[in-house]
Amino acid sequence: MKKNFEPVIGIEIHVQLKTQSKMFCGSKNADEDVPNTHVCPICLGHPGTLPVLNQEALQKAMRAACALNAHIQPTCKFDRKHYFYPDLPKGYQISQYDEPLALGGSIRISNESKEKVIHLERVHMEEDTAQLIHAKTGTLMDLNRAGTPLIEIVSKPEIHSAHEAKLFVQELRLRLIYAEVTDGNMKKGQLRFDTNVSVHTKGKPLGTRVEIKNLNSFRSLEQAIKFEIQRQKKILEQGETILRETRGWNDEIGETYSLRNKEAVQDYRYFPEPDIPPLLITNEVIERVQLEIPEMPQERRKRLMEEYDISERDVQVLIETPELSEFFEKTISELRSWLDSLDTTEGSDTEIWNANRKKITKLVLGWLLSEILRLTNAAHIGIGQSKMTPENFAEFITLLYERKLNSSAGQVILAEMFRTGIDPSQCMAEKNLEQVSDTLVLEQSVQEVLQEETQVVQDYQRGKKQALMFLVGKVMKKTKGKANPQTVTDILRKKLA
Ligand SMILES: [Zn+2]
Repeated sequence: MKKNFEPVIGIEIHVQLKTQSKMFCGSKNADEDVPNTHVCPICLGHPGTLPVLNQEALQKAMRAACALNAHIQPTCKFDRKHYFYPDLPKGYQISQYDEPLALGGSIRISNESKEKVIHLERVHMEEDTAQLIHAKTGTLMDLNRAGTPLIEIVSKPEIHSAHEAKLFVQELRLRLIYAEVTDGNMKKGQLRFDTNVSVHTKGKPLGTRVEIKNLNSFRSLEQAIKFEIQRQKKILEQGETILRETRGWNDEIGETYSLRNKEAVQDYRYFPEPDIPPLLITNEVIERVQLEIPEMPQERRKRLMEEYDISERDVQVLIETPELSEFFEKTISELRSWLDSLDTTEGSDTEIWNANRKKITKLVLGWLLSEILRLTNAAHIGIGQSKMTPENFAEFITLLYERKLNSSAGQVILAEMFRTGIDPSQCMAEKNLEQVSDTLVLEQSVQEVLQEETQVVQDYQRGKKQALMFLVGKVMKKTKGKANPQTVTDILRKKLA
């Protein structure tokens, strides 16, 4: 008997905010540094110290809330959440309990071109704990992270598969990166997930929730949910009951495991933080934050597809990194000015662009998404950190467009531009890589190749058409890759006819 089980999933996301200093003190927000170097009496939890709210953290938290379409509340307050654990020197964490920064919010995801909106419960601010490092010799503690600013985002339980969960957190991360509140680096733990999973029969009351804690990658989130759904289904099919508990995730064996049972809800003895007054946020402030929110990935995705006629796959790569899509658009804008300035083009700016759009966009994307991504990945940097400007890259594209450069020489020049920031025309001249299209010059090389490769010539003349490509390759080699392959092909065809 197979029952029609439906999984119900909610996710809590902790996001580190990118600020200069910590949430309630002046210590630097830099948990990657030498351990225990960015600390002060406040974040060490010394008695008698007074926390002061970091305005930058508040600004970024409000930006995050707006980017997630959440409603910033006119008043909110901080609370002390008590629990005893070595990573919490004060014995409590400053968080927000019943009056969070923002309520509601939503994220739209697209699952196999089916759109779905997933709503949010709330967005609140809190401080991070210290980091425990479990070494062979014992557990070490790094307090650099203690007191750094976090936001916690809680989704409504509207997610129904592991895949949907992954799409949801991916879109959420991208929105927060676009809003410039975090770098969203998963390896550095800048985004961390907890998830609630239950399984029930459709139309029947919800099942018992199991919480899975500390998931640090999209993959582990997806795998843990998948595993948990199967585990719970199996228990229900055997007619047994699900235990309400908190579970961990073992990435190596791909299973969740019991951490503690939750039959008695943990009592954190929340009470209002007496040292920080409640916040009053005016409508003017909220409106200003809303106005400052830049274009979000969803809108950019749609606009790029419409404006440039780019495929969904290419657009996805472009918007994955905001600076990559910005670099693309700056390059295109340079190329449009260049097209307008040519004597050979006529008509309005729009007419000229429409006539060339397809060819130019294809050329730019071809180089950007293959060669340049290869270079940035190899150098472990973003395109913004390379020495190459969009102006130089646009000029590089014009050289290809005008056939002054062929693609093998192009690769050499692009690598040099990427490394040193050299102007492509200058680089082409210095390296003597300008494409040779001069028929008289090329005929000489063709003639030499025909004399050297008599066997191949015979093969071609007996009908082995692919022999032509071999001969083109020989001429390219002779000219050190500078020949225009099309011109070479034309000359060969004529001579062999
Ligand atoms: Zn401090």
